[in-house]
Amino acid sequence: MKFPYDLRERWDGKRYNSFNRILKQSFHARVHKVSLRLDFTCPNRDGRVAVGGCIYCNNAGHTPPTYRPALSVKEQMEAGMEAVARRTGARKFIAYFQSYTNTYGPLNKLERLYREALDIPGVVGLSIATRPDCVPDDVLDLITDIARQTYVWLELGLESMHEKTLQWVNRGHGLTEFIDAVERSKARGLRLCVHLILGFPGESREEILQTPALLNRLGIDGVKLHNLHVIKGTVLEELYERGDVNLLSREEYINLVADFLEILSPEVIIHRLTGETTRGLTVAPNWSLNKVAVINAIQAELQRRETWQGKFRLEAMAWNSAQLGSTFRREEVAH
Ligand code: SF4
Repeated sequence: MKFPYDLRERWDGKRYNSFNRILKQSFHARVHKVSLRLDFTCPNRDGRVAVGGCIYCNNAGHTPPTYRPALSVKEQMEAGMEAVARRTGARKFIAYFQSYTNTYGPLNKLERLYREALDIPGVVGLSIATRPDCVPDDVLDLITDIARQTYVWLELGLESMHEKTLQWVNRGHGLTEFIDAVERSKARGLRLCVHLILGFPGESREEILQTPALLNRLGIDGVKLHNLHVIKGTVLEELYERGDVNLLSREEYINLVADFLEILSPEVIIHRLTGETTRGLTVAPNWSLNKVAVINAIQAELQRRETWQGKFRLEAMAWNSAQLGSTFRREEVAH
């Protein structure tokens, strides 16, 4: 089966459903995300769930270069928008509540911060990153209310669907909390993007490839993938330096992402295909620092295989992780 003509047209020649294209189509302009770091913390750090945080986490890794402590949402956005506009010419922006857990706080504080961002001329939407155990119903109701007026993505960190890995990384939640958060968000009609890390030690290729099938089954709208990479100042750095952690090679990662995309539904929007931490903070691997080259290599691998996102869509028939191995349905998708 050849790459279907309608997908070739719809995806502008890409072999996957890219977020950049969706933004261009939706807003008829170049739209860029501007990252925010606000005075949030995380229940995996402040003691509510744990104190150490996830073993790979150093929030400096996604702190915007224009960040200065105590700057308001408006000040951070304006500095970020000016820097992005200078670099790319973009005139429309999505305020990205990225660092820490951006739904973990009193409701009135959340509403004030989200609406402050939306009041800035040029801001056309919000992306709100959080944990699955930090989206109680009142927070989802607030985000749903805002989503009725503007363009909103809720980004949930899952990272791995496997309990053994979630425990190993000290994630502080399980698959059950994730599924519960997804079902309550989808019941409200929210757009959901899921963050995943590929390449955790102890996960086989087969286990990793159970994840896109689960996402298909749950009706997830978007996905962000990145390779396991080691950032300075983390527990993972200590493990890596001791030789306890092996990382994927560039070729292994590119192949794995291509396998993942083949199974993922073509309707799922790909927000990110690889990690993006700065050189100064990255311990390893070096190959993922050249993000554009990795993205181009994934597209080239899909072309080489004459394949595309969703060619072999799989659906998990049940989401009990113990059962998943035997409960997949494979189908070649007709477009
Ligand atoms: S990765 Fe997210 S959930 Fe984990 S410790 Fe860091 S801020 Fe908290």
